[in-house]
Amino acid sequence: MSNIAFIGLGNMGGPMAINLVKKGHHVIGFDLSHSASEALIAAGGQTSDSAITAAKDADVVISMLPSGKHVAELYSEEFISQLKPDTLIIDSSTIDAVTARSVAQMAASKGCKMIDAPVSGGTAGAQAGTLTFIVGGPTKDYEKARPILKCMGQNIFHAGDSGAGQVAKICNNMLLAIHMIGTSEAINLGVRHGLEPKILSEIMQKSSGRNWSLEVYNPYPGVMENAPSSRAYSGGFAVDLMTKDLGLAAEAGLETRTSTPLGNAALNLYRIWSEAGNGTSDFSSIIQFLNKHQ
Ligand code: NAD
Repeated sequence: MSNIAFIGLGNMGGPMAINLVKKGHHVIGFDLSHSASEALIAAGGQTSDSAITAAKDADVVISMLPSGKHVAELYSEEFISQLKPDTLIIDSSTIDAVTARSVAQMAASKGCKMIDAPVSGGTAGAQAGTLTFIVGGPTKDYEKARPILKCMGQNIFHAGDSGAGQVAKICNNMLLAIHMIGTSEAINLGVRHGLEPKILSEIMQKSSGRNWSLEVYNPYPGVMENAPSSRAYSGGFAVDLMTKDLGLAAEAGLETRTSTPLGNAALNLYRIWSEAGNGTSDFSSIIQFLNKHQ
């Protein structure tokens, strides 16, 4: 069993750290918010008063932070210099590939290893230990990380070299935003014509409009009792995080002169929705934007 430091115990990181404790690992967590640490302590983990105190004796350091800025700030030269030689860093935050590669290079220069391992599967997947991990980094580091990732996820993919996990992840999230908006549009249209949202959703789930937003994350309140839409759009994947991911996709499109017209439209809709005061709501709340603007 490994000594694991877990930095960032929010909606995703909290339940992921708890799953590592349940599999017998020794986990020391750290989060800037004290309340985020409570569930880990209740589950048998430990917490620390700083990231470096949690990480300095760890075999593995896992981070689950909001954005590239937070990841770059955490993995400073000073921080990495204080880790044990050969420490494996697994960053599961969704960030830009450039930052992921630069942290990996710095880790290598200090005798450590770093892979990018963003996830898909949402907070329900984090709780159930069924996440999909999308890894970028050398094969030997991927193989070393696999048993740890298996404690938190079901499907573990090796996308390619350093940064490749992040590229694959933003492609996925751009598609997710597009089908969430499309699903919201379709349900909203049906409801405006007097259809029951649950019946319409069942029909589309068995028809060619079928997609993940319809199957497990229905945006219409009351259709799925475990979806964020049925708890006032709380506790899921925040609008601001989706907006960040769509911004990463737009930047990646610019870098390679790739057209992403629907991705760019989704970015603008989410940005407007965030600026209207909904940045911390779950991203499926975009259906309310459609409701309010017709
Ligand atoms: P969150 O905001 O719930 O959690 C982030 C946590 O990081 C917060 O508790 C915050 O206090 C903490 N934090 C920020 N800076 C810190 C620092 N320097 N040191 C220690 N803790 C710090 O976000 P989340 O929903 O858990 O998402 C985390 C990452 O996972 C994001 O990159 C997001 O894009 C990605 N992601 C989220 C979901 C989802 O459904 N929520 C799904 C897949 C991927």
